[in-house]
Amino acid sequence: MDLKLIEETSYQSDGFGSGSGEVITEVYECPCKKGKVYYEKENIPGFRTVEIFSDCEECKESFDFGRGTAKAKENTI
Ligand SMILES: [Zn+2]
Repeated sequence: MDLKLIEETSYQSDGFGSGSGEVITEVYECPCKKGKVYYEKENIPGFRTVEIFSDCEECKESFDFGRGTAKAKENTI
């Protein structure tokens, strides 16, 4: 399913001595609408990391999250 985008921010980072880059944060409404799902991307030379996490215990158990998407886990009862 697609999640609803609530907030999108980006800022320039000085990087870590390897040049500057951009850090993007997107906040989505979690599937049960009680929590939030965060997508963070560091677009900095040498530090291309992506992090996706939810602050909702319930949905963390039941879904695998992508960028703006949630997929029900197979083993969910
Ligand atoms: Zn939730």
